Amino acid sequence: MQVFSNTGHSFPKTLDEFKNLFLEENISLEFLFQKRWPQGFVCPYCAWQNEELRPAKTMICSHCGHPTSISTNTIMHGTKKPLSQWLICIWWLTSSPGGKSAKDLQRLLHLSSYQTAWAWLQKLRMAMALADKKKCSKTVEISSNTISFGGENLAKTPILAAAEIILPAGITGRIKMASVESVNRKTVNSFLNRKVEPGSSLIVPDEVSYQNINRNSFISVASSTIYKTREITESFKLWINTIHRGGVAAKHLQLYLDEFCFHSNAAMLPDREAIFNLLLSGALSKKSLSYKNLTSQPTKE
Ligand SMILES: [Zn+2]
Repeated sequence: MQVFSNTGHSFPKTLDEFKNLFLEENISLEFLFQKRWPQGFVCPYCAWQNEELRPAKTMICSHCGHPTSISTNTIMHGTKKPLSQWLICIWWLTSSPGGKSAKDLQRLLHLSSYQTAWAWLQKLRMAMALADKKKCSKTVEISSNTISFGGENLAKTPILAAAEIILPAGITGRIKMASVESVNRKTVNSFLNRKVEPGSSLIVPDEVSYQNINRNSFISVASSTIYKTREITESFKLWINTIHRGGVAAKHLQLYLDEFCFHSNAAMLPDREAIFNLLLSGALSKKSLSYKNLTSQPTKE
């Protein structure tokens, strides 16, 4: 039997089974402590390691004296809600590849505030981006598409997409997408730098924006007919319009792209427990300040 981390149980198949494992707050605390500091407590302020320090609501570093909680400097930083609610949310988000809305989460956790549910989902989308860091490699197709938003903003926002093409079957492997102001030499090269491993072979559209790619970074750059990335960006448009019904603001688009890519890439993992652990690793990794403005203003979904 595969054991679910330090709980001594196999990975829960249902939400009720999962909830029953984390009925007491100290169990959630010990579980998260083991996940965050498997080799023993490391102070987030001074990096001092103290293997003797046990899980507690507030832990005091014996070196610098700073008080720390399990959520300090993670995407859960400053949370006042029970830790079990975060774990339930992570289980629920990784229980199926379909996206979830803030209203669904509000119902799941019986939250009185829509804003809290919305902010939690934005933070967990950020955790997905932090966890899903591995770049596309080997044979990679890239292209662009546009997405338009309803309501006041009818402007089309460009998206760049990359997809590994697994040869010889031609099936899609890892995918990456980014929202950009425009598609040009600079944004294409920046996207490739962030999302595609050097040494890959690129397949690009026969368009001017792709004619000045930094060729030293890649084995080959071939212009060809684009098909996989076009399918992916069209699937994303359908997905976001079905779940969020046009309630997404253009300024938040990147987080939804990150969520879509996370689910697609996580589907290559061997089981549900691995997907849960991947998202949990993102939730416990150091938060990225660049996302702060993306999580500050709710929109109605
Ligand atoms: Zn310290």
